[in-house]
Amino acid sequence: MGNSYVGAKQTTLSQSVVMTGVGVHSGAPVSITLHPADADSGINFLVSKDGKDVEIQAHCDFIKNLTLCTILGSECGAVVATVEHLMSALRGLSIDNVLVEIDNGEVPIMDGSAMPFVRAIEEVGLKDLDAPRSFIKVLKPIRVEENGCWGELLPYNGFRLDVEIDFETPVIGRQRFNSDLNPGVFREELARARTFGFMEQVEGLWAAGRALGASLENTVAIDKDKVLNREGLRWDDEFVRHKALDAVGDLALAGSPLLCSYKSYRGGHALNAKAISTLLADKDAWTKVSVPAVPAHVIEHHSDGHVGDGQGAAVLSAANFAADRN
Ligand SMILES: [Zn+2]
Repeated sequence: MGNSYVGAKQTTLSQSVVMTGVGVHSGAPVSITLHPADADSGINFLVSKDGKDVEIQAHCDFIKNLTLCTILGSECGAVVATVEHLMSALRGLSIDNVLVEIDNGEVPIMDGSAMPFVRAIEEVGLKDLDAPRSFIKVLKPIRVEENGCWGELLPYNGFRLDVEIDFETPVIGRQRFNSDLNPGVFREELARARTFGFMEQVEGLWAAGRALGASLENTVAIDKDKVLNREGLRWDDEFVRHKALDAVGDLALAGSPLLCSYKSYRGGHALNAKAISTLLADKDAWTKVSVPAVPAHVIEHHSDGHVGDGQGAAVLSAANFAADRN
């Protein structure tokens, strides 16, 4: 891709960018603005509650509900729903600090994938901040299980996903995504994968006042053994790619990028969140490491905001340095 983006420093957006859409659960129009943010501030959501501005940190400590989407909330009762695909885009592109202002309680679903967020972010581009990026380095295996589903965080010099799903419907069946991840892989292999749902569940959701904004514009709909969307699938294994996209966003709720390999079998938001909170609760299982300073002559600055493959290599070398220090 021509750009070598060295991931030693924290990043934010070069300027603010606005997006509009509908909330998949509320069905209501919503506008979000991604603002640049200071180093070490992380990803935060700015919502309004009883006329007051409230910030909600994108961290697993603030998860309120995971039934259908990821809902974060503050102590005062302010909430923000459906954060997962935006979180995935931010983490997938290695963006550390952003303030996400939302006017209507839910991140818009857009086309059901992370690509509209990726495009909006690339429109304004990223900038480095004068602070080293720090990672959560997994030191020992963490395993969580739930009703025949399991997830494992394993020590690894880099970030790797190995996600497998197994559905009865022949439309999906057994699918696996197994790859090292960097912004280039995220953008090309995962970002366009859409969320999916089963028609037999939709009526129940609508009756419960959920999924009111769900449509064939933003969801791959499966009815028994066929896909209802006229345009078909973006990949034959779009389903597992979306699960991997979700995992990137869910693991981002650790608050810092991870150095680990994450394996899951039939996982989802709840399992991914459980893996992260189990890890963070075990202080012997992880440590914080920073990327060592990179000599200036090897840094090539990206000027067009496009996030290329280079960062993956930098993260990998950072991980190797980090391993030496422990
Ligand atoms: Zn999803």
